[in-house]
Amino acid sequence: MHHQVLPSVVLLLVVAAGAPVLYAQPVDLSRVRMVDLTHAFDSATLYWPTSPSGFELERLAFGRTEGGWFYSANAFSSPEHGGTHLDAPIHFAENRLTNDRIPLERLIAPAVVIDVTAKASADPDYRLTPGDVAAFEGQHGRIAAGTIVLLRTGWSARWPDRKAYLGDDTPGDASKLRFPSFGAEAARLLVEERGVAALGCDVASIDYGQSTDFMVHRIAAERDVYGLENLTSLDDVPATGATVIALPMKIAGGSGGPVRVVALVPR
Ligand SMILES: [Zn+2]
Repeated sequence: MHHQVLPSVVLLLVVAAGAPVLYAQPVDLSRVRMVDLTHAFDSATLYWPTSPSGFELERLAFGRTEGGWFYSANAFSSPEHGGTHLDAPIHFAENRLTNDRIPLERLIAPAVVIDVTAKASADPDYRLTPGDVAAFEGQHGRIAAGTIVLLRTGWSARWPDRKAYLGDDTPGDASKLRFPSFGAEAARLLVEERGVAALGCDVASIDYGQSTDFMVHRIAAERDVYGLENLTSLDDVPATGATVIALPMKIAGGSGGPVRVVALVPR
């Protein structure tokens, strides 16, 4: 058994005999702006071209009951990998962490945003390079271990236009996809040398669209680094200073799944 706590959001309750109850809150949420980095799930949500199905919502009830009160309930189904979702390390490495076993300390962590929108708009096959990381660090300082690294390409503006976002809309065929993402050497630097917690992006994959070997997925998974894909609103998160909360559905044994991602940005 391992016990997981949320040290940064734990409410400290001090009760002294005869004294008033005192609540101390180490994280002052009045001093942050909350930015939702998540696309909503609906019938337009994009899945990989080879995905057997998409997001499905079945209405089970919606309306007034015989007792006179309102009641609604739905059933949903979804492949793990589509929409704004998390890739657990086991997605690309056997015996690595599943959804439910990723430590909370890695899901709630400081974040940096590396912006490659200019390069990506000029080249849809653009991949983040070690030089881009060096330039970022030259300006903002060395990326600390445990950081959630978010790559901003600007591609979320194309969501949910399948052809514009994925580069191709041929059903069942993932060979003609075109979008930017991380490059293998930059991923190696971030994962193996910086020890980051996660690689996240505003495109459909942490590997670029034309990838055939999924090296970034493999490099990350091997070190138990998880991925965040199909993020949005990264233009509203500063290069440094934000804290990201990325909590996936706790699917036991899951290789990934829908995730709500929020950035806490200092005011
Ligand atoms: Zn995925």
